[in-house]
Parts: sequence; C-alpha cells; structure tokens
Amino acid sequence: MSGKNRTVADIVAICQEMYEDLSFNYARKWKAAKAGRKVVGFLPVYVPLEVIHAAGCLPLGIFGGGDSMEVIHGDAYYQSYICRIPRSTIELGVTKRLDFVDGMVFPFVCDVIRNLSGMWKIMFPDVWSKFFDTPQNFDLSIGGTYYVQELKEFKEGLEHLTGRTISDDDLRRSTKLYNENRRLVRDVYAFRAKQPWLAPTSEVYLLMRAGLMMDVEEHTQMLKDYLVAAAALDRPKRDNVRIAIFGSFCEQPPLNLIKSIEMAGCYIVDDDYAVNNRFLTVDVPLTGDPLEALSTTYLKHSVETSCKYVPVEADKGKFHIAAVKASGAEGVIYATPSFCDPALLDRPMICHRLSDAGIPYISFKYAENSGQMQPIREQAGTFADSIKLWS
Ligand code: SF4
Repeated sequence: MSGKNRTVADIVAICQEMYEDLSFNYARKWKAAKAGRKVVGFLPVYVPLEVIHAAGCLPLGIFGGGDSMEVIHGDAYYQSYICRIPRSTIELGVTKRLDFVDGMVFPFVCDVIRNLSGMWKIMFPDVWSKFFDTPQNFDLSIGGTYYVQELKEFKEGLEHLTGRTISDDDLRRSTKLYNENRRLVRDVYAFRAKQPWLAPTSEVYLLMRAGLMMDVEEHTQMLKDYLVAAAALDRPKRDNVRIAIFGSFCEQPPLNLIKSIEMAGCYIVDDDYAVNNRFLTVDVPLTGDPLEALSTTYLKHSVETSCKYVPVEADKGKFHIAAVKASGAEGVIYATPSFCDPALLDRPMICHRLSDAGIPYISFKYAENSGQMQPIREQAGTFADSIKLWS
C-alpha cells in the first residue's frame, strides 16, 4: 500500500511495530524471502549503508534494547558506570535475538563501542564483525586517503561474507538509492521545522528509526507517503516553543521521553536522534570512484557530533548554532545518555557557545530505559514557559 491510500496512522503503526519488535521480524522475513540473503547489523552513529546494500545485504540498525527489555546477562560484562547501549546490545546477542544476523559493524563512536566490537568477535566468532574506524583528520590527503582504505577493507569484508564482488556500478546504484532516501529524510525534517504541529517528533522519530531497519526503497516510499498524508491532516497549531535537541546521537531515549518533551509544550524542530540517515548533508556524487566520493562527502559534508573531532577550538558549537538558526529553534535541550563520555565532554563547550549566542538551553541525562518522566516534563515545561516569558 502506498501514496494516497496510506494514512499517517497506517505508517506510524508499521514503524511503531518495528520499533517495539526486539525479535527483528522484518529483517528475519527479509532474509528468509530469498536463499543466500544476508543481514548486517550496525550500531550508531554512522556507517555508510550504501556499501552494505551494494553487497546485497540488508543493513539493520541495532539501537540497544530500549525500555522494554530487561538486561540480565549484559550487566555481567560491564562495570556499572557505563552507558546502557553496550549492555543491552550484549543482552540482545546472548538471548539469541540477533541469531540470524550474519555480520555486525561497530563504527567508531567511543571506546565503549570499540571494546564491544572486540567482545562481539570473541563471543560470536561465526559472525563477521567489523570495527569501522572513521577518520578524525579532515584533510583529504590524510584523513581522506585513510578513509578510502578503510572503505576498501569494509567492502572486501562484505565481499568475503557474501561471496560476491561489489562493482563500482553496484556502489553507484546503492548510493543513488541512499541519496534519494537522504533527500526525502531532509524533506521530512524541513516539513517538520516549518509546520511542527503537522509532524510531531514522536512520529517522525519512529519513521526514521524504522528506515534504519528496512529496505531503503521501501522506506523512501514511506517517507513520500508520510509527507503527503501528514500535509493533509487537520491538526491544531499550539502555542508551543520551538526547540532543538542535541546530544542524543548514540544511545536513544525512550519514546516516552520524546513525548514528554512535546507534552510539556515544546515542538522539536531539529534533533540528532538516530542520525545515521542525516549524517551526510549533501548527495554523494555518482561520478568518479564511488569510495572516494563517499570519503570526500564524509570529510567535507557531514554533521558535527561529539564523536567527530573539531580541530579548531573556536569552531566548536558553530554547527549547533547554525542548526538552531536554520530550524528556527528558540532554545536547545542538550539531552545525553548517562555516562556518555563524548557527549558529556562536549556539553559544557557547546552550551557555553549557545549561551554566548543568546540561545537559551537546558540539559539533562537519560538512559534508554528511563522510566520516570515527570521530572523531564516539569523541566521541559518550565524551560518552555521561560522562553515564552523572557526570550
Ligand atoms: S552512549 Fe556515548 S558512551 Fe555510550 S556507546 Fe554511545 S557514544 Fe559511547
């Protein structure tokens, strides 16, 4: 079902089901539909999904266990003072919820994910496991040269896993599909920034999360359908304040936290939730060497998160201030996972710059299984009121 036949409720119901399904039935069915198909899981924050797709595999976003899974075994593998996503990812593995996954990609985010990649290799030796190390030097002749080599190794690993050669044309075909998907993702974000009452973030978030777990062409159609269906809805415009969320790029907050911020009188008009599908901000060129094209786009046109080094200290926070202005946000909620070293190291620097720019902000921490929303709602509500009264 697509186009005018699909309502917002239809689309959100599909996405919500995928969000809640920790058995990953969509990916299991996709794999079972054709002999030889393989599924490759990936963790936040950024992995070039077009390379996995070009190998004929389904990239499957693994975002921990959320707030509905009890972590029992996972806690035994880590100390207490650490974020929750590695523990719940281990739990997904040892409880066999990921037993159909043929490969796992652990991008460079922080030491926690790097260590998780080593643990996965030991715990699940039959699964192809790749630590994908994105560059921290943004000079094309240094970081670019390194990154093309890393992409080549990534491609070769996938070729070994699937037993098929990935040609340049395969890569271009997949890149074209992901370019289109990213364009539609940007369109949905722009639509929400313009008319946030028509596209609540609790819906948009589910739409984006589902996209990182399903076939890219199916998701592109879903985004098109959502834009048509959401624009046709008659939803009341409220006297809410417009805010941007930063710091939530890796471990994801529970959906109820997003809903609580909205119920407290905030329209979320920009965010860095599940940012993989917005990491590259422009189309990847379809001419020339496809891996070089991916590398150059990453180095020159990608979002800023705490897992990317900002070489010039004075540039810290410029990306966030520009994002606030572009989305028309009136304030920022800097919401980070507890014990998230990269985000918590960044927080004072970014918030300081926001403050200098006259942008009001608040900050708090969460875990993917945070259950007590009243304090969040009160904090966000007070913040919204203060912006209305004094900004
Ligand atoms: S939530 Fe933060 S500390 Fe935890 S794995 Fe992600 S980036 Fe690392």
